[in-house]
Amino acid sequence: MSRPAGNPSYAAELGAAKKAVALAARLCQTVQQEIVQSDIQSKADKTPVTVADYGSQVLVSLVLNMEVTSGSFSMVAEEDSEDLRKDGAEEILERITDLVNKTLAEDGSYNILLSKEAILSAIDTGKSEGGPSGRHWVLDPIDGTKGFVRGGQYAIALALLDEGRVVLGVLGCPNLPFTSVSNLSGSSSGDQTGALFSAAIGCGAEVQSLDGSPPQKISVCTIDNPANASFFESYEGAHSMRDFTGSVAEKLGVQAPPVRIDSQAKYGALARGDGAIYWRFPHEGYRETIWDHAAGSIVVTEAGGVVKDASGNDLDFSKGRYLVRDTGIIATNKQLMPSVLKCVQEAIKEKKQASSPL
Ligand code: AMP
Ligand code: MG
Repeated sequence: MSRPAGNPSYAAELGAAKKAVALAARLCQTVQQEIVQSDIQSKADKTPVTVADYGSQVLVSLVLNMEVTSGSFSMVAEEDSEDLRKDGAEEILERITDLVNKTLAEDGSYNILLSKEAILSAIDTGKSEGGPSGRHWVLDPIDGTKGFVRGGQYAIALALLDEGRVVLGVLGCPNLPFTSVSNLSGSSSGDQTGALFSAAIGCGAEVQSLDGSPPQKISVCTIDNPANASFFESYEGAHSMRDFTGSVAEKLGVQAPPVRIDSQAKYGALARGDGAIYWRFPHEGYRETIWDHAAGSIVVTEAGGVVKDASGNDLDFSKGRYLVRDTGIIATNKQLMPSVLKCVQEAIKEKKQASSPL
């Protein structure tokens, strides 16, 4: 696909973003292996998650700052250093510092050793409010924290906003089968694990292995009959209304059972055609953050798909740290979107009627 006239090239930024995400993924993998090995997950100890969240954010900030030297740096990211500056947080800060320095030393690209103060400052580069003007990096250092603790799916999700629109996105998915999620449960499939999805506006979407195999172009599936479609949704039941999505699936005539995966790995899997639809309908009052969708949505749209809210509007990433419309998100291919939207809107209407007192 060629680049439309008038779009600047984001090649340098995309290269930096891939490098940042791949390095952060390495740190996350180290921590996740320790969780699984020490069986901390059964004690529901949040500490390893926190260490990996912060460590991932530090590495992404650091690599972007080293690799992209033009213009000022702004990042909208999930974590900040407030809790780490409190009394009693010394030990965890020490662990983050060691982990970051160890990851950097093993990688060998940068000859630096970060102090604790430098770690705190790097975390706080993520405090930007984003908005409609200028460039802002958008980062979820570990998307799908619950999957991460469970030893399941998670993603390091990084995007760039330029004048309010997402212009590139990278998703590092260390636990995703490289070829297809149909190999999710089969450890005997021989499929390699770990995928790095990337996309830049007007340039298509690609996947490569996390250790740097050559990128391959990807595209969404071409299914046009909903009866043959399968859909992704959150692994966590609390993150999307399953009774609602069940009724939409029934209206559409979807036959296959839902495929439930944590994190924006769902967007990556959809972008390479592993499934036909990804939808999420959070419970009322939940506000979606931009870092939960920016990278995933451009990977899907550049793979030929479409991402809309429940009213059929494009997602608006220009309004700060939150998405303004939060009535549900649907990602699918161009053929299926009209019927999916129609059934979603019918189901919303029925739900409203059922809850109305009259
Ligand atoms: P997923 O695995 O697709 O559900 O995505 C994980 C993301 O869901 C997390 O990073 C959170 O930002 C987000 N999340 C947390 N609580 C909720 C909720 N109650 N409803 C919807 N999304 C949520
Ligand atoms: Mg998240």
